[in-house]
Amino acid sequence: MATTLTDRLSHLVKTMRGQARITETNVQDMLREVRMALLEADVALPVVRDFIARVKEKALGQEVVGSLNPGQVLVSVVHKELAATMGEGISDINLAAQPPAIILMAGLQGAGKTTTTAKLAKHLIEKRKKKVLTVSADVYRPAAIEQLKTVTKQAGAEWFPSEPNQKPKDIALAALDWARRHYFDVLLVDTAGRLAIDEALMAEIRELHATLNPVETLFVVDAMQGQDAINTAKAFKEALPLTGIVLTKLDGDSRGGAALSVRQITGAPIKFAGVSEKIDGLEVFDAERHAGRVLG
Ligand code: GDP
Repeated sequence: MATTLTDRLSHLVKTMRGQARITETNVQDMLREVRMALLEADVALPVVRDFIARVKEKALGQEVVGSLNPGQVLVSVVHKELAATMGEGISDINLAAQPPAIILMAGLQGAGKTTTTAKLAKHLIEKRKKKVLTVSADVYRPAAIEQLKTVTKQAGAEWFPSEPNQKPKDIALAALDWARRHYFDVLLVDTAGRLAIDEALMAEIRELHATLNPVETLFVVDAMQGQDAINTAKAFKEALPLTGIVLTKLDGDSRGGAALSVRQITGAPIKFAGVSEKIDGLEVFDAERHAGRVLG
């Protein structure tokens, strides 16, 4: 079985020996393999189509320079375009706001919001030397509030209590007031998720956003979500002005094609990757490296 895109293309490359340019037929044949690789990585179909169209434009007429063979030229075009689509450079958390800088966490239940909230708290404490408060506005699952309390402690941050009988908006305002009066630099607000998109949930998180005016609204999405990621991303983008994405569970065995789908649908930068269940399992997202993984 072909393992890398280069392997996949090797049989096509043999037929191109001695050619100085990649012809349209060569490109078509190769793009078929690229398309397969992306679909296997669970990139959503419309996103694959768009991507292939862009690569085709760039690949046609590329000179086959030096010792590189046409296959390598195309792999390099694909890799570059993929990395560029998923975002270039490093974009850390924006804290440019009157303290406390508010970060709103959004995403489906199980995506990893609560875990990521604590991981981010730890990141901001250690890397940015910030005083961090967390609060849960998930009034539907008392266990979620307790879970945030536990992981916040592990992160070395402070946790603001909330109760299932409170309104999410009131919780947010109380936490904000506390954060202001106790000179916190950052307030991380964990929110409720559902198993699927739900209008009431979206209305609630929109209200939280309007109340808090966060400097960052992060969409937390499970890299294993595959094709479904596109619908989730669409719904959250329509509901909220997303400022960044956290792609979780990249330690799983998915090829992480969701990164491409989610980035293209939301237009927001992928800021972090979750790479373990542990509190220190958060990495700044590296688009170059991730492009290699998606292509296999
Ligand atoms: P929430 O419902 O969105 O708040 O999701 P949770 O934070 O409760 O996470 C759901 C599950 O995914 C938990 O078992 C977490 O330990 C796990 N999880 C979250 N992020 C990661 C990650 O990056 N890697 C792995 N392996 N597991 C993760």
